[in-house]
Amino acid sequence: MSDLDVAPQELRAPAVRPAAGVRVWPGRDVPLGGVRGLEVTRLLPQRGLPTVGPWCFLDLMGPTDRPADILPHPHTGLQTVTWPLSGQIRHRDTLGSDVVVRPGELDIMTAGHGIAHSEMSVPTTAPTHLAQLWIALPDGVRDGARRFEQHRELPHLAVDGVDVTVVVGALAGVRSPAWVAGPVVGADLRWPATGRTVELPVDPTHEHAVVPLSGPVEVDGVPVPGGSLGHLPTGTSRLRLTAGPGARVLLLGGPPFREDLVMWWNFVARSHDEVVAARAEWEAGSERFGHIPAHGALRIPAPPLPGVRLRPRRRDLP
Ligand code: MN
Repeated sequence: MSDLDVAPQELRAPAVRPAAGVRVWPGRDVPLGGVRGLEVTRLLPQRGLPTVGPWCFLDLMGPTDRPADILPHPHTGLQTVTWPLSGQIRHRDTLGSDVVVRPGELDIMTAGHGIAHSEMSVPTTAPTHLAQLWIALPDGVRDGARRFEQHRELPHLAVDGVDVTVVVGALAGVRSPAWVAGPVVGADLRWPATGRTVELPVDPTHEHAVVPLSGPVEVDGVPVPGGSLGHLPTGTSRLRLTAGPGARVLLLGGPPFREDLVMWWNFVARSHDEVVAARAEWEAGSERFGHIPAHGALRIPAPPLPGVRLRPRRRDLP
């Protein structure tokens, strides 16, 4: 998916900080591709919370019957993680990949120095409901080779009757086959037909985000409503999660990301000048990003740069 939000709003409800250490960050509705496009709920980045571990972007789309048709666009310095909850997405990229991803399957694309891809919904009877995430790549890896993987089988574990799919990284000793550059976790938790409280063992060197996908969830007794993200700092080795029958929750985590990130449009970089260079190379049709012959000349042009120098996003957290 592409960040088509060319005029990000800074308006946002203040984060609620209860006593328990869990802080609730409401997402915001963002139209993709203009007023007639799709609307998504953006949960990362937020002012004051640019990252959770290396996770630097999270949009939830749908459920919607409107097609998601994202034409070729570039990326740098990140991995994209496409995790459909319902519906199917066809992915094509400049490595020649052309695959359809379905619920329970993972598309993970490593941009490295540069890649371009398209994502188009496949007409199905099921509405499109999708989590789109980015992982920031660390220095030493972020300018590496482009890469794409699809995984149709992902490991599961059961925690007190809750089915946990380890989508990316590792959780409780169970590791996803997806290539990652460092410690991270992304997991999809599904409650059975009865609601309950579970205690999930987690890495205390990670910070975590708990994101309701279907039904609300309580984290250590703090309600995290739909359309928001519950953040927990490092130092926790058990997450106490309470949810109702059939609830579904996304868990993200990793060691706090300490490198300055300059994020603009679909580029994750370290400086204004890197973004300017990437934008210019996309506009010039450079081999840095490559081409997708199936789309001919169709592509998403880069929006104009803002009139100010882009700066790293800062954390408003201890
Ligand atoms: Mn994309």
